[in-house]
Amino acid sequence: MTDATHWHDRAQSLSLVTQAFIDGRFVDAQSGDTFDTINPATGEVLAKVASCDKADADLAVAAARTAFNDRRWAGQAPAQRKAVLLRFAELIAEHRDELALLESLDMGKPIGDALGYDAPATARAISWHAEAIDKLYDEVAPVGDGALALITREPLGVVAAVVPWNFPLVMAAWKLGPALATGNSIILKPSEKSPLSALKLAELAKQAGLPDGVLNVLPGYGHTVGEALAMHMDIDCITFTGSTAVGKHLLECAGKSNMKRAFMECGGKSAHIVCADCDDLDKAAATAAAAICYNQGEVCTAGSRLLVDNAIKDQFLPKLVAELNKWQPADPLDPSTPMGAMVDQLQFDRVCKYIDLGLSEGATLLAGGVPKQEGPGLFIPPTILADMTPEHTLAREEIFGPVLSVIGFDGLDEAIQIANDSEYGLAAGLWTSSIKNAIRGSRALRAGTVFVNNWDGGDMTMPFGGYKQSGNGRDKSLHAMEKYTELKSTWIEL
Ligand code: NAD
Repeated sequence: MTDATHWHDRAQSLSLVTQAFIDGRFVDAQSGDTFDTINPATGEVLAKVASCDKADADLAVAAARTAFNDRRWAGQAPAQRKAVLLRFAELIAEHRDELALLESLDMGKPIGDALGYDAPATARAISWHAEAIDKLYDEVAPVGDGALALITREPLGVVAAVVPWNFPLVMAAWKLGPALATGNSIILKPSEKSPLSALKLAELAKQAGLPDGVLNVLPGYGHTVGEALAMHMDIDCITFTGSTAVGKHLLECAGKSNMKRAFMECGGKSAHIVCADCDDLDKAAATAAAAICYNQGEVCTAGSRLLVDNAIKDQFLPKLVAELNKWQPADPLDPSTPMGAMVDQLQFDRVCKYIDLGLSEGATLLAGGVPKQEGPGLFIPPTILADMTPEHTLAREEIFGPVLSVIGFDGLDEAIQIANDSEYGLAAGLWTSSIKNAIRGSRALRAGTVFVNNWDGGDMTMPFGGYKQSGNGRDKSLHAMEKYTELKSTWIEL
């Protein structure tokens, strides 16, 4: 087992890719501008990265369009595309340590998580869609002897993928896998807070044999290069993961420009319900702690509203506090660290402000609280605010940090009513030993994913996405591939 010294040493010798990737080449931004990307655990500037804007977007779109029109990728047999993407996935797996290190340094997550989840899940997302692409058949409609009626799927064309910083590699791979497998050309815009791993992916894709122009990566800010992509008249689809506010804005951009397809995976305020008939409160408490602390709580499906039946509250809350206290933040490069640093000062301040607000609205602090920021590291302890009502601001707004709001309820019907009283609908969870409550509850919960007696169960075979203002469209599974294709009807008169 490697230790923190190993990873700190490796970090010193890491070579970073910092230029944009356009038409198969690494280039500076046209303007020559750069931005700093910072390690949130130390405050150290990791690199100066190309800061792209509209001029770079235009170049990347032109390259992607040329690559699409001459069919250098879309025109390949699905089995050929599969072979290239499988090689890409292999290279990702071979570079697991380097990619995990980039992820941890750039956005503060524990190296253990990046090694155990982010890097392998990225490889799996690419290989899963690659494996699927030569097994999907089109349809012939049953119209009789007079015609041959074909229902076929074709790639959309040029896809812009705009992704967040919380899982930079995985969120990118959930878009790249299905969009590349179905034959599209892509422009990937990573978050300005975590651009490094996406640029490394570009290098690996080229090495795998992906033709030039098919994948382009533009680091830069949302309001510059992101906006230019969203408003571009020659992009066929914008696929986004990020906040609901930006997602709504991108839908407007699609409407104001060329009505490009717009798929939004946005925020959440997921309800995690512990019923009085839960027969394993220890497991429920450990899971509830993980559901809010994993990835520093910077998870769209964080179980941030914990609904506990009043009948078991006194028994359950001490277990929860004990479990939560195990998630103290520490050096992200130590493999034994459970929780790392918040991504940047802005997010750190935002989470602290929410904790203060919760206390001023009358919540009871059971663990954690606003930390004294003594060093440059942006660490927030796991925090529980109890005695909340569904009306409290912290019970309604996405915090995106390790801050758990606890709300009491009486009986499953009330729990479902509270859970569904949200503008979001990404995930929900239910702990119960009753099969009837499990089925009735999971049907009634208005969320894209419902976990019964677990949290965050899932697989590439299952779609992922939200109801209501948590988004539209789905990532993962074969359903994700539908997003990146047009459906064509061809009627051949006989
Ligand atoms: P964000 O919306 O601030 O940014 C996401 C991306 O959009 C970044 O690349 C950013 O540069 C870009 N962007 C910002 N303004 C833009 C604009 N005007 N035009 C074009 N692009 C623009 O989100 P974030 O802070 O990076 O990520 C956190 C959010 O992501 C949370 O709300 C979280 O719930 C959500 N999220 C959702 C899912 C999901 O699958 N539903 C998964 C992970 C994260």
